Amino acid sequence: MNCELCGSAIRGEAQAINIDGGIFRVCNSCSRLGTPARVPKPAFVRPTNQSVTSTLSRPQKAKSPPPPSPTFSYDAEEMMLREDYSKVIKSARELLGITQEELGRKINEKPSVISHLEVGSMKPDDVLAKKLEHLLKIELYVSVEDGLASYSP
Ligand SMILES: [Zn+2]
Repeated sequence: MNCELCGSAIRGEAQAINIDGGIFRVCNSCSRLGTPARVPKPAFVRPTNQSVTSTLSRPQKAKSPPPPSPTFSYDAEEMMLREDYSKVIKSARELLGITQEELGRKINEKPSVISHLEVGSMKPDDVLAKKLEHLLKIELYVSVEDGLASYSP
């Protein structure tokens, strides 16, 4: 299952936390955002004669819709290499004021690789793109939707 807050896949057991009265099942890193909560198990909630008032104190579902889940993983949805990747890499590198050689050294690639990327004669694979994205603070892989949208004015 996925974290209800950040949308990333939860490995192991989901943490149930309470945020403003709403119960969320979240990943470990998001569990800090709220207080630990017991997830109500509807199967065990049996109406009794005295339960009229107790239903009021039951945790209620948050009224606000869950935040849109950002995509942290390329697997989450279909991602594509943006078509203007060469321009993006080049301008981001120039912004940092480093040469192709320096950039290559930082990501463990030959300067010729950078040069190929910047003229668009070579496409970065996932791993290389990740390194460039991190170092240059850019996005090379975008969701198919965004990739197509970036060409509209
Ligand atoms: Zn999370």
